[in-house]
Amino acid sequence: MNKQITIIGAGLVGSLLSIYLSKKGYNVKVYERRGDMRKEAISAGRSINLALSDRGILALEEAGVMEDIRPLCIPMHGRYIHKVDGSTAFQPYGNRGQFINSVSRAGLNAKLMDVAEAHGVRISFMQKCNGINWKRNEIELEDLLSHEKQHTPAGIIFGSDGAYSAARLSHQFNIERFQYNQWYIDFGYKELTISPGAGGKFLMEKNALHIWPRGNYMLIALPNIDGSFTCTLFFPFEGSPSFESLGSIEKVKVFFRETFADVVPIMPGLEVDFFQNPTSSLVTIKCFPWVHEDSFALIGDAAHAIVPFFGQGMNCGFEDCSVLNALIDKYDGNWKNILEQYQQLRKPDADAIADLAINNFVEMRDKVGDEQFLLQKRIEADFSNKHPDKWTPAYSQVTFSPHIRYSEALSSSTKQEEIMKEVMKLDDLPAKWNSSEVESMILELLAKRG
Ligand SMILES: Cc1cc2nc3c(=O)[nH]c(=O)nc-3n(C[C@H](O)[C@H](O)[C@H](O)COP(=O)(O)OP(=O)(O)OC[C@H]3O[C@@H](n4cnc5c(N)ncnc54)[C@H](O)[C@@H]3O)c2cc1C
Repeated sequence: MNKQITIIGAGLVGSLLSIYLSKKGYNVKVYERRGDMRKEAISAGRSINLALSDRGILALEEAGVMEDIRPLCIPMHGRYIHKVDGSTAFQPYGNRGQFINSVSRAGLNAKLMDVAEAHGVRISFMQKCNGINWKRNEIELEDLLSHEKQHTPAGIIFGSDGAYSAARLSHQFNIERFQYNQWYIDFGYKELTISPGAGGKFLMEKNALHIWPRGNYMLIALPNIDGSFTCTLFFPFEGSPSFESLGSIEKVKVFFRETFADVVPIMPGLEVDFFQNPTSSLVTIKCFPWVHEDSFALIGDAAHAIVPFFGQGMNCGFEDCSVLNALIDKYDGNWKNILEQYQQLRKPDADAIADLAINNFVEMRDKVGDEQFLLQKRIEADFSNKHPDKWTPAYSQVTFSPHIRYSEALSSSTKQEEIMKEVMKLDDLPAKWNSSEVESMILELLAKRG
């Protein structure tokens, strides 16, 4: 059995994977392009905090690290909607006490690296992978301080180097008929900050994911442990309004006063942050195959980058690790079978969550402030309460039901959407949304669709 594992990228997924594998007795080396974030004040890259939900938690528990991570988490019990007129509404995620967690990306990544090292994983920083020598089973590394280049024997290689993966690029040129698809949405994002109040007080509801839906764009905010909130503005690149059209401090100020009035008094750094923080793009990447024989696999964003509107990119990457872990046990170290089964199982699920994430973008952006949509969601929640065995809302399937595969969640949510389209055509619906008539109609439509 080959006991040597090389992981490219010590991000969230590479670090968790290294823990799983070292606990199985493998000799794991990780090469990371950046410096050590635990020693240097470097940005962890994208988004300062993330939503961690049940799939990710399950994997962290399985790897034995969740208790280390829990103190970093702030539970968010629902969406807190901020309307243009200043009124607010709270939409719980579920009526069974379900919640997702806001967690610092850097804090989570640092903790995973600590645990990995405690299990004997060797992480080398400032080591950029430039490619893979497939014949010799070596990775080509560049030391970013000395600029020295070296070839390192690799064993089994995992490319967990993110959406713009060098490992994937090398794999692409190594095999024939590699399928690759990447596309950007016309929206970018920019991070902004709501400061803490005196003594680290939260200036908005702490235990919620805040959303300012504004039709064609939206602002969201997740709480941080220091009392601040990290806000993300998802906004068109071009058009009116857009990043392009808000070209001056004055325009930004006026726009925020008119559009996000309740935010302006608690966002003192707005003008500086808006022009200093980068405007970043949002990409979906699908590719295939993810593996090569018994010696190479892509994992996490390197295999499947998705837009962040379901808060699932990291959760999905953590689930990859969990699935792989089960397959290592099942195939008892036969890496050809392990890797083949891994891609067979995960590819349809990764494609499904990519599509669900795009669909949820439209839902969060256009609909969470819309009366018809809210009524539809009320009907679905009511029906789901009465018949929990027949109806789990798509959001709950993805976020709170790790035993349901993403691909199953996509097909059942498509069916639910078709049914609700019919139901929403009923006359007088606001007066009878929880009536037996509506309930019977849904039951009938469900039975028809099998
Ligand atoms: C705005 C935004 C918000 C998000 N919010 C959420 C959320 O709420 N919940 C959620 O689950 N997901 C969220 N995501 C998705 C999540 O960030 C990613 O899915 C997750 O970071 C993927 O982890 P990874 O380890 O695969 O890749 P990355 O986190 O990108 O890590 C890759 C690592 O590889 C290193 N690397 C890159 N190239 C090389 C190289 N050539 N050599 C060596 N090392 C290299 C990088 O420095 C990095 O450390 C969000 C994403 C964005 C953009």
